[in-house]
Amino acid sequence: MSKSYEALKPLLEKAMAYQTAKILFEWDNETLAPEAAGPYTSKVVGTLSDSYFHIITDPEFQSLVNECKKEKGLAEVEAAIVREAAEEIEELEKVPAEEYRAFSELVSESTRSWAKAKKDQDFESFAPILKKIIDYQKKFAKYRAKDGQKLYDVMLDTYEKGFDMETLDRFFGELKEELVPFLKELMDRKKDIDDSFLTGDYPEEKQEQAARFFAEYVGFDFDKGVLAVSAHPFTTNLHNHDVRITTHYSDRVDSSLFSVIHEAGHGIYELGIRDDLTQTLVGQGASMGMHESQSRFFENIIGRNPAFWEPVYTKLQEIFPEQLKSVMLEQFVKAVNKVEPGLIRTEADELTYSLHVLIRYEIEKQLIEEDLSVDELPKLWADKYEEYLGIRPENVSEGVLQDIHWSQGSFGYFPSYALGSAFGAQMYAFMKKHMDFDGLLKKGDISAIREYLREHIHQYGKLKTSREILKEMTGEDFTPKYYIQYLKDKYGALYGLTGSERR
Ligand code: ZN
Repeated sequence: MSKSYEALKPLLEKAMAYQTAKILFEWDNETLAPEAAGPYTSKVVGTLSDSYFHIITDPEFQSLVNECKKEKGLAEVEAAIVREAAEEIEELEKVPAEEYRAFSELVSESTRSWAKAKKDQDFESFAPILKKIIDYQKKFAKYRAKDGQKLYDVMLDTYEKGFDMETLDRFFGELKEELVPFLKELMDRKKDIDDSFLTGDYPEEKQEQAARFFAEYVGFDFDKGVLAVSAHPFTTNLHNHDVRITTHYSDRVDSSLFSVIHEAGHGIYELGIRDDLTQTLVGQGASMGMHESQSRFFENIIGRNPAFWEPVYTKLQEIFPEQLKSVMLEQFVKAVNKVEPGLIRTEADELTYSLHVLIRYEIEKQLIEEDLSVDELPKLWADKYEEYLGIRPENVSEGVLQDIHWSQGSFGYFPSYALGSAFGAQMYAFMKKHMDFDGLLKKGDISAIREYLREHIHQYGKLKTSREILKEMTGEDFTPKYYIQYLKDKYGALYGLTGSERR
């Protein structure tokens, strides 16, 4: 180990410890902490963030990182950690500290304002603060832009390295061209799938029993992980021996069931990261999109696959004998794959999901690149829903105010959700050539699939970008074609479109 790296290492470890403690408090805040703890916890979290910030922006830390960058003899992992540290410094340095602090304060005000506006269906009260948030984001992007780089490209690159408007215009353009008419065609069929039995009296303890069973069944290791309840499901990772997932229970049994499989997918990714990477700056998933590719792979490509349910549907029936005893396997599989254009992204089925994301992408691009006025958002949003999904929100709460992201200043984040699905479909197309994918699911053997993902994706953490991982795994650069094909094949079959009708 080089001298500079040796000196840098304890500082990195200290920074990671602050980070881990902060994450643990955040997790606690969302799950177990009493309501009254909120403001007190915020103070602790603020101090921990500051301590992290101080280490990274400390001149000694920075000069060590610079020395390490010049070293030739660093091991691969060390070099990757140094690269991440340098990027972290750059990001924190380019934005003046006082502006960043002012923005952070604005965000906490803005998320509160958003929550209230959403509750009151009152966009006008939120619009002025949203304008400020957008101005800040544009300013920050300007600071960070490399020569000539467009502002929205800077934002996109933050969440998904190597993806810009050029790539995403092509991606979303193809989705729009192929999926919007395909959806119309499916809906014209008026083939009604009965999913009424999914809603009803599903006791919470039984749902929890099912959640634990299926999380473990797909490979979430409860020796290194926990499951808790929170308002919105999420995954928290402290390191590769402590990954925590949450769910929520409602009267819809499929809601928690698939959200647990989804979060288990995030969890399995984090648990699969190599021991020598964990608790370092490269010890997390490669990107937001790659993470979502794994969670959606488990939820949809595995979990909503008819073959998946063959060996385990009886288990679900055992847990819910009254509710499901007269529901046949085939009926159940159709119901959990029902397509129904809706207004709410987080409740969308697999087919319409990417159209929700497409709408957000088009609007964000206009906001950042074409100076679209914030006041026009509600109408533009509703028009796009009508055009692509055939339904129109009746109020702003189920329209433009439904997501928290913009109030937090997250622009460029949404596309990753759709990219993740597309990454997963590309992996799936490739894996099917190398293994009897459905055959393994029918045997109840998910370990071979999971191992394959671990070997080609999970273990690397942030050593590679999502695009590199995808290319090395499948031998092909990112392409939307597999995703479109996957959706058309799956839903064409489910809705009985014959081959010739399937364009
Ligand atoms: Zn997710």
